[in-house]
Amino acid sequence: MSSNLSRDISELSLDPESSSSTPQSTSTPPLSNGSGYSTTAQTSINHPKPLRNKKSSMNRLDSPLDTRPASPYTLNPPIDSDGLSWPSVGARKRIESNEEESKQREKRISDAVKVILEELGEDTNREGLLETPERYARAMLFFTKGYEDNIRDVIKRAVFEEDHDEMVIVRDIEIYSLCEHHLVPFFGKVHIGYIPNKKVLGLSKLARLAEMYSRRFQVQERLTKQIAMALTEILKPQGVAVVIEATHMCMVSRGIQKTGSSTVTSCMLGCFREAQKTREEFLGLLGKR
Ligand SMILES: [Zn+2]
Repeated sequence: MSSNLSRDISELSLDPESSSSTPQSTSTPPLSNGSGYSTTAQTSINHPKPLRNKKSSMNRLDSPLDTRPASPYTLNPPIDSDGLSWPSVGARKRIESNEEESKQREKRISDAVKVILEELGEDTNREGLLETPERYARAMLFFTKGYEDNIRDVIKRAVFEEDHDEMVIVRDIEIYSLCEHHLVPFFGKVHIGYIPNKKVLGLSKLARLAEMYSRRFQVQERLTKQIAMALTEILKPQGVAVVIEATHMCMVSRGIQKTGSSTVTSCMLGCFREAQKTREEFLGLLGKR
């Protein structure tokens, strides 16, 4: 393994942000930090079939996902000029707020939460709920802090020139996100693999990338794509594979599916999409435990 990469791995173990993930490449033995990997989920990883939807070619832009149907999130390049990467309408306003404006935003959110609580039949003056609207506002701002992340800051100087052309996998990165349809959490694990093309990314940055996109309102499918496309854009690698296994509170808590069900999504780009062997190697390495 390269000295650059090794150095980054040693940095990684000192990096408190990445303590929840299990970074590893195929050339290092698995780190055992006790983070579990659901064995039932392994069997539910489907081998994705390459999608060759030529119909969408008229909407084709310079996007690594040009075989997928167009959406504002996949048509635009994942890294835009300001580096915010698929920002939502209010993201810029939020990121540029001064302290006073941020306070006012928090106040508006908590006022709205108070209305919700009252409409639900609660007494917002009872002791337990007195500061709940403010707490909730702060919590929501944290859960969606990814809107304030800039991909350039996330990646910083962690792209290294390297002759490594073997598969790199970071497995079991924990993510916590919010379902944009129900505004309730979904959470689980993301596994990211890529085959470099002269450039590698510091391993902890893969986890940061996943964090940046998951701390927004999301659907799991889009989250999967965004991580894969951003990595493709950053490294121009031979291929990228992202698999997410997640539990959605909107499903498990409403009795639609049994508790413990997990949703698996995958996005395969480049050689992972084209070569079944590469894809199988990746999925095999995910399941090996
Ligand atoms: Zn939902």
